[in-house]
Amino acid sequence: MRATDIVIPERLRPADGRFGSGPSKVRPEAVAALAADAPTYLGTSHRREGVRAVVRRLRAGLAELFALPDGYEVVLGVGGTTVLWDALAFSLIERRSQHLVFGEFSGRFAEAVALSTVVQEPDVIASEPGTHPLPQARDDVDVYALTHNETSTGVAMPVVRPAPRGLVAVDATSAAGGIEVDPRDFDVYYFAPQKCFASDGGLWLALCSPAAVERIERIGDGDRYIPPSLDLLIALENSRRDQTYNTPALATLHLMLSQLEWILGNGGLAWAADRCRTSAATVYDWAESHELVTPFVADPAQRSPVVATLDLDPAVAAADVCAALRANGIVDTEAYRKLGRNQLRVAMYPAIEPEDVRALTACIDYVLAQLSA
Ligand SMILES: *Cc1c(COP(=O)(O)O)cnc(C)c1O
Repeated sequence: MRATDIVIPERLRPADGRFGSGPSKVRPEAVAALAADAPTYLGTSHRREGVRAVVRRLRAGLAELFALPDGYEVVLGVGGTTVLWDALAFSLIERRSQHLVFGEFSGRFAEAVALSTVVQEPDVIASEPGTHPLPQARDDVDVYALTHNETSTGVAMPVVRPAPRGLVAVDATSAAGGIEVDPRDFDVYYFAPQKCFASDGGLWLALCSPAAVERIERIGDGDRYIPPSLDLLIALENSRRDQTYNTPALATLHLMLSQLEWILGNGGLAWAADRCRTSAATVYDWAESHELVTPFVADPAQRSPVVATLDLDPAVAAADVCAALRANGIVDTEAYRKLGRNQLRVAMYPAIEPEDVRALTACIDYVLAQLSA
């Protein structure tokens, strides 16, 4: 049977078919809230109270969600995580950074730093996709670059300080809001809103410890050339006034605030993390007992609770499974393209209903049965 001719029975289908790892499902309630506020919000100045109040609630809400200790600051700017990497190379790394590379995103940050002429060649510790390496304390390293959740491979790693000295900068783009973290273990915990925060891309947010703020101020006040759009001191000063240096996407801010307040209203980070763990248990338990499906990440301790990667038996083509699902309104279950495996990837972010994740497994079962019929 041709994959796209498969019709999944209505009773098996999830209520919402979005399982992409980013952009990811945006809750309809957040879209409705944006539409309701649109006449007095969209198309108004980001230097005025209407938008600044949203940024203020966002900053205060993030401080609450992550239980940030006194002195930690929430900084934001335009450009998404990828742009923040360049900003970190200019404004946070003093001389040398260490990077744990275990997938596409952690690799991209290391590459961006390697191209920089203002800092030294980074120290790179890599491991095979599907695993994560461990940091190593080094005297010449002043920033340890970790990735809480490597979205390309579905590997999560613990956030821990590798050394008493040196700042810990964590790419939490797909982890923040879905995995618990202790702020005392990081100096910069950064992310973008299109994953657990169920909004759109194009913005970066960074939770900064007093030590990180001190470093940003010192480098920013020094004589290093820093392009203004990548200068974290400029971003910090604007954030303190609940603004961004240049114009942000107002819809993105609003959608993110809805998601943040929804998580806070339901019990905060512990609640969201628990919800993701519930979905993850459904997926991994199903995969482990399946003839044709195997969790890609061999060590259960390293399996991500927010993004599951699932290898398929060579007898079935993941592309066919994804095409069949897509034809039935279930989208973005494709593996990360550069990984090149016969694999499905499923986001299990807080906005995605655990019941829909369960329904997805039933739909995949149905498709697999049809494809081999
Ligand atoms: C999605 C993602 C990025 C890239 O984010 P952009 O906002 O598109 O730049 C970086 N790191 C991780 C871990 C991600 O999941």
